[in-house]
Amino acid sequence: MIRGQCRGCGAEIIWATSKNGKPMPLSAQSEEKRAVLVDEMQRPTSDPQRAHMAVIESVFRSHFADCPAADRFRKAPKPESGKSSDE
Ligand SMILES: [Zn+2]
Repeated sequence: MIRGQCRGCGAEIIWATSKNGKPMPLSAQSEEKRAVLVDEMQRPTSDPQRAHMAVIESVFRSHFADCPAADRFRKAPKPESGKSSDE
């Protein structure tokens, strides 16, 4: 888990990878413990009949939902920060 700081609002964030492989910031402050049912093979299941036990998982909310400066990221045009690949 990579911790960092939001460039927009300075909040503590955690970098995660989304299902399609993109980096996604999560709000470190939004940690919640959630019980997840798993079967005997430790696979998550939503069927209580098949559940073997419950494991406690930490979940975080996307920082985009929390960030007061999220608008800045969404409409941000390309900043002119000299990003040339040919040196
Ligand atoms: Zn932020």
